[in-house]
Parts: sequence; structure tokens; C-alpha cells
Amino acid sequence: MTPIQMVDLQRQYRKIKPEIDEAIQTVINSAAFVKGAQVEQFARHLESYTGAKHVIPVANGTEALQIALMALGLKPGDEVITPTFTFIATAEVVALLGLTPVVVDVEWGTMNMSVEAVRKAITPKTKAIVPVHLFGQCADIEPLLSLAREHNLYIVEDTAQAIGAKYTFSDGRTAQAGTIGEIGCTSFFPSKNLGCYGDGGALFTNDDELAQRIRIIANHGMTIRYHHDMIGVNSRLDTIQAAILDTKLPHLDEYIAARQRAAEYYDKVFAGCDKILIPERSRNSTHVFHQYTLRITGANRDAVREALTKAGVPAMVYYPIPLHMQKAYQDARYKQGDFPVAERLAACVLSLPMHTELDDEQLSYITEQVLNAVKS
Ligand SMILES: *Cc1c(COP(=O)(O)O)cnc(C)c1O
Repeated sequence: MTPIQMVDLQRQYRKIKPEIDEAIQTVINSAAFVKGAQVEQFARHLESYTGAKHVIPVANGTEALQIALMALGLKPGDEVITPTFTFIATAEVVALLGLTPVVVDVEWGTMNMSVEAVRKAITPKTKAIVPVHLFGQCADIEPLLSLAREHNLYIVEDTAQAIGAKYTFSDGRTAQAGTIGEIGCTSFFPSKNLGCYGDGGALFTNDDELAQRIRIIANHGMTIRYHHDMIGVNSRLDTIQAAILDTKLPHLDEYIAARQRAAEYYDKVFAGCDKILIPERSRNSTHVFHQYTLRITGANRDAVREALTKAGVPAMVYYPIPLHMQKAYQDARYKQGDFPVAERLAACVLSLPMHTELDDEQLSYITEQVLNAVKS
């Protein structure tokens, strides 16, 4: 059996090696390492794939979030609502910009932001909601949109884990994750569903004016060369990374299908086990399985993880500490117990190997080891 990894990027590369090597070599030959033609070319291709009117590539997903909040003109003191059960990036950029992060609890089943919790967290100072489409499935964005309209708030979607996921509105209309709010932010970190071979990210928007502001901010706030009209940052996607992404983008749908196939295999085996809960599917979103995350309810999660590691099955805890319990984000407004669902999830979630190269032999071994581990 091929050794099992959380993410097997080597095997994925080997299948497309000639295309990738050629794309990289072309960039090196041109020496256009920054702002090469491949960057805009990839952006246009990602626009057609996602349906976003504008895709603006940047250096990484965290900076995409920061640039989004800068482009919306948020000011110190403005409150931004984000889930407490997620990666740190959303709260981090809010704090760095001097905005006030307001965290809310999530749903037990989908692990995504609770709309009810958002409703309760809105104050006159609230300016934006940053839903995270966690683990590859859209947060319930339609009711969030109505809330945002009602209270005049922006929505910035963190779609770092959900590129390609599709949301269906109550009228039957569908849209891709990241193209629904004012701005969507994604990451091309190597292990993401569309990953490059280093760091990368992008912003999506359907608004021409916002797109213009985003481009200016990402380029030192520069309108005409050496004329700086706004405070900006330096955030660029390398040409080599763009060339790699442009080569991988045509494979994204088959990558998603491979992840969904592995998830179905997991589901079938685990559905009958009363010690674990499989990830719940949202009614109105497809799931692109950036992670396949179990909730271990009938056994000790850390013991299960240890047993798996011993058996050669890597498993990870995304995320062990909710944002409101992080040391750097200690805040008199929040204490342990305030967000019981997130705290319970942090104690019981376990993500299994999930990538495009999992074969039946590996899936059979992983599932067998998980069942053994939860029963012992
Ligand atoms: C990966 C990730 C980010 C940050 O992306 P980087 O490219 O690593 O900066 C932000 N939010 C979520 C939910 C992520 O998973």
C-alpha cells in the first residue's frame, strides 16, 4: 500500500508533471517572474470557472482578506462578525486593521457560522460579516445576505477551503462560493483544493469599483506609476505560481470529484458506527471536501488520533482552540463557555486524510483503523 498522507501532493504532481514542468520552464525562460502574462491569464480563466466578474490574484489568502476589508473602507472601531471555530486568518486581519472582531458560534452539524448567532451579534457598529465556508461547504449565505441587506452590512466570504463549491438559493439560482457577497477571498496554499507550489491567493468581486480599489490597494495604493492615492500593500501572485495554477485549474473538477468519492467511501463505512458522526451536508451547498472531518462522540478523540498515528494513518485536529480562547485574542467580552458548540467541536473533531490520490486500498485501511480505534 502507498504510505498514507493527509495530503499527497507528490502523487498529484507526478500525474501532471510534463504540463507543470513546461509551464514553470516557460516562466523561467521569459524571466517575467513578477507580473508575467500568466498572472492575468490565470485570473481570466478563474473568472470563467467561478463566474466572478473580477478575479484579482494576490500573494496569499490572508492578505486577500486584509485587502478586502481595506477596500471596503472599514475604520477602527467598526465591528466585523466572524465564526469562532475557524482558522485564525479572519480574526487576525480584522485585529491588524484596528477593527473589532466579533466572534459567533457555529452549527453542530455543518460546523459553519450560525445565522441566528450572527443576528444576535449585530450592533450599530457592525459593518461586515465574514462567513468562512469551512472544510469545503458553503455557510448558509442566503439568510446572511438578507441580514446584511437589512442592516446595511458587507459580506466578505472566506472561501479558502471551498473553491468550486456551489450554493443553491431558494429560487433555484446557483452561484459559486466566493462570488455571492461583496468580496470573496481564497487561498492557493499548496494543500488547498486548488493549490500552487508556494503561497498564493485571490479576491473575487462582481463590483467594478471595488475591483479597481482592490487592484490599487494590492499594488501599493498606486494609481499612476509612483502616484499613491491610498495606503496599500505589496501583494502579488508570482508568475510561476500563476502558471502552475493555470495548469491545475482545468483539473479542479476532477480533483473535487476525487475528494467527493473518498468522502462517500468514508460516509458509507462510518454511517453505521454510533461512536462517530459523519460531516453533515448542508441542504443548499455542495461539499468539495477540503477536509473530511468526523466528530468523535463515543470515544476519546486524542486517544483515537494517537492510535491512528501508530497505525500509519495521519489525522489532524482542525481546529483545537476556538478564536475566543486564543491567547493573543483574549478579550474581556468573551470567556470559556460562551460558544458551547465551537468548544465542543474543538474537543471532538478529527480530520482524516483527504486528497485527490486516495485509492480504495488506502481508504479501506483508513476506515478499518478508525473503526478499531473508536472501539478500543
Ligand atoms: C488557508 C486559509 C486561509 C489563509 O490562507 P493563506 O494563503 O495561508 O494565507 C484563510 N482562511 C481559511 C479558512 C483558510 O483555510
